[in-house]
This record gives sequence, C-alpha cells and structure tokens, in this order.
Amino acid sequence: MTSRVPALIVHGGAGADPTDDPDELRDGIRQAVAAGWAVLRDGGSAVIAVEAAVCALEDHPRFNAGRGSVLTADGTVEMDASIMEGDGLMNGAVACVTGIRHPVSLAKRIMEEGRHSFFVGEGARARARELGVPLCDPAELVTERQRRRLESIQAGTVGAVALDRRGLIAAATSTGGIPGKLPGRVGDSPLIGCGTYAESTLGGVSCTGDGEAIIRVVLARRALDILKATTEPRHACQVAVDVLVEEGRGGGGLICIDWKGQAGWAQSTSLMPVGLMSPGHSAPFLPF
Ligand code: ASP
Repeated sequence: MTSRVPALIVHGGAGADPTDDPDELRDGIRQAVAAGWAVLRDGGSAVIAVEAAVCALEDHPRFNAGRGSVLTADGTVEMDASIMEGDGLMNGAVACVTGIRHPVSLAKRIMEEGRHSFFVGEGARARARELGVPLCDPAELVTERQRRRLESIQAGTVGAVALDRRGLIAAATSTGGIPGKLPGRVGDSPLIGCGTYAESTLGGVSCTGDGEAIIRVVLARRALDILKATTEPRHACQVAVDVLVEEGRGGGGLICIDWKGQAGWAQSTSLMPVGLMSPGHSAPFLPF
C-alpha cells in the first residue's frame, strides 16, 4: 500500500465580502479544515475528507452553501454540488436542489451508487429520499442575512481538495449559486471539469466565481492541464485565473492539490478565504 503525506485545502468562495467580519470567515474555514483533517490524519479517504470539510461549510450560515445559501430572484434556495475521486474518475453531482442540508453528501451517495452521475431538482430530491440523505424544510436553509442580501453581488461558494495516505485525490464544491439568479439557473459548481475535477496522477481542483465564465473555459480541468505543463500548483492556479479573466471574461478563483501534496490557490477577486493543512503544520494555515 502506498504511504503518502496527506494534504488538504479548502476555500470559502472568491466572492467573499472583504468588509465582513474576518473572524467569522476564519472560524468557518478552521472548522472545515479540522473536519477534513481529522479524516486524513487517521488514514481515512480523501473522498470522506472533502465531504466532511464541505459539510462543515454547508452548516455554517456565513457561507453560500447549504444553510446560508444565496437566494434566487424568487427568494428561494436552489443549491448545486459535485464531488469527484481521482483514481477511477467516478463523480456525482446535483443541481437545483432544495430542502437538503448537505447537497455534497447527496452528490457523494450518487457517485457511490455509480449508475448515473448527475441529478437535478425533484429527481435529485427523490434520490436523496432513496439513498437515505436527510431532507429538511427548504425554509430552514434561508437565513435573514441572505434575505437582506438578495440584491447584492457577494457570494461564498465552498470547496475542498484532499490527498490521502493511499495517494487518492478527491475534490468537492458546493454552492447556492449567485444571488438573485433566475430559478433553474445552474453554474459551474456541479459540472465536472468546470467547478470540480480530480485525477490522482495529476491533482484535484475546486473553483469559485462567475459560473458562466468558468463554464466557458472548463476551468477545473483546464487548470490540471496547465499544472501538467508547469508542475507548480501556485503558478498553475495563477495561470488558470488569467485564463478565466482573459478568455472566460469573468472573475473568480480556484484551489488545487497536486499528486505530491503541494497546494496552490489564486483568485482575481479581493478576497477568497482559504485554509490548508498538512503534517508539517501544527494548526491550519489561513493565508487571508
Ligand atoms: N461559481 C458559483 C456559481 O456560479 C458561484 C460562486 O462561486 O460564488 O454558481
């Protein structure tokens, strides 16, 4: 069995509001890193680690995923999420789901089931019922903060990438989308190759930002192709952001871990909360 040095990186969205309380953001990122790291440290799977990290942020009302998701133009919550493992390239995704506390867990169950990859709306909710993923009252996901923010452009999508001791890389992304979006609109986050991608021989990526622009340049997969050429994750992320801005004509950011466990991140916006952990750190490193 391969024994690799595990690594984890999480993000809380490239649209984070720099005028907001940074302690709240740091606290949420720390909790997410702690949840994912507990899995990796004990020899657990990268898939479980990214699910745990993203679930922690879906529970945190300050981030735009799960409870605290931004609202559509109709004032409802419609969430998107995806997850991918980089050994067999299996993946699962959901879009336009409501009344589910942890969309990333539903995406993971769909991936594990293996028959189909992507479910939307009512069909996704029905899968949640059948696969034993807890449902909740859609109203529980709507926070007063997001009701007040319906008109704002801020967002805080979440994502995580992990490398486990066996050398498996996994990535996951979860979002409420963009504030005031038209009902039925789906961005990059649940699209494999756009918002999320993982390939254990190369690396894993989770993206955030203008979904339409990220889709245009297939950013997550594109970043891994850039990584293949540069072999330096921080540089690869910076080049990928340039591609997003220049070719995609939008803003955003991404996080990445390569097959050696080196982490990278970059964004074109003023703030993207990020947290990292590897055995060399005694506590999560929060470079924001
Ligand atoms: N990429 C997400 C979307 O377009 C939003 C975000 O990352 O803030 O749905």
